[in-house]
Amino acid sequence: MRIIGRAADMAEAARAFRAAGEGVALVPTMGALHDGHLSLVALASRGGRRVVVSVFVNPTQFGPGEDFERYPRDPARDAALLEKAGADVLFMPDAGEVYPPGFASWVQLPSMENVLCGRYRPGHFRGVATVCCILFGMVGPDAAVFGRKDAQQLAIIKRMVSDLRLGVGIIEAPIVREADGLAMSSRNAYLTPSQRAEAPRIFGGLSAAATLAGHGSPGAPELAGAFRAGLEGARELSVQYVELVDPSTLEPMDALDRDGLLAVAVLAGRTRLIDNLILRPGAGAVEV
Ligand code: AMP
Repeated sequence: MRIIGRAADMAEAARAFRAAGEGVALVPTMGALHDGHLSLVALASRGGRRVVVSVFVNPTQFGPGEDFERYPRDPARDAALLEKAGADVLFMPDAGEVYPPGFASWVQLPSMENVLCGRYRPGHFRGVATVCCILFGMVGPDAAVFGRKDAQQLAIIKRMVSDLRLGVGIIEAPIVREADGLAMSSRNAYLTPSQRAEAPRIFGGLSAAATLAGHGSPGAPELAGAFRAGLEGARELSVQYVELVDPSTLEPMDALDRDGLLAVAVLAGRTRLIDNLILRPGAGAVEV
């Protein structure tokens, strides 16, 4: 595995892959890698594509007072994990090269970025869409892999790629969970033991909502109620939002009359945990 820091070297490596007739898949991450990230690497390499994993803690997607400074960083461990997972390139660009002096362009999707998490993290998805666009420009991948764990991010990237004709195939990766159901996240490292002990209730609440969906076409309030009931009595968890939305447009749905994304954010102290399930009426949770 090559470790590349400079954008010019990354462009050259990608050019060499393409010249050899090889496809290139990009896996954008912020590092502090876990098995969820590694599942994306495995998906990226399908079909014999070369796999470029970027590790970049993107300053523009953190709001004031968010965890940019304390976000976990462990490049040596990330490199070892990626080497073992079979990645071809670990790309770690400098912030100064991603956002050079005079940088002035932003990608915005107003109808999709100010809902769900965007309501609580103003500017976050503008930062995400913009950095993904820059990384696509730097690497020139045929495909890029994103996890369904970040369902709003995934919907936004798919819309951006389609609207701007970026020509990057988006591969979706299922959510990887701990044995007790907690969705893996780099931010789980912030949890105290007692918060960690309660955190699996998030998946418990989602599963209760999925059971309801399995029996028919419940309304959004019933689904939200089932989720909240699953968290009842939790001492350290508070629900920030629970919403049923269209998985592609993120528009609110009144009832589960077709596939719907039940998306939640829960606070454990200062730590925000997000999770979701795609629900199908009469079927429950589905992998689409
Ligand atoms: P991050 O480093 O948290 O920005 O995540 C990088 C990529 O990994 C994103 O596409 C995430 O959706 C994906 N990802 C993070 N956690 C998981 C998980 N538990 N299961 C699947 N994908 C994940």
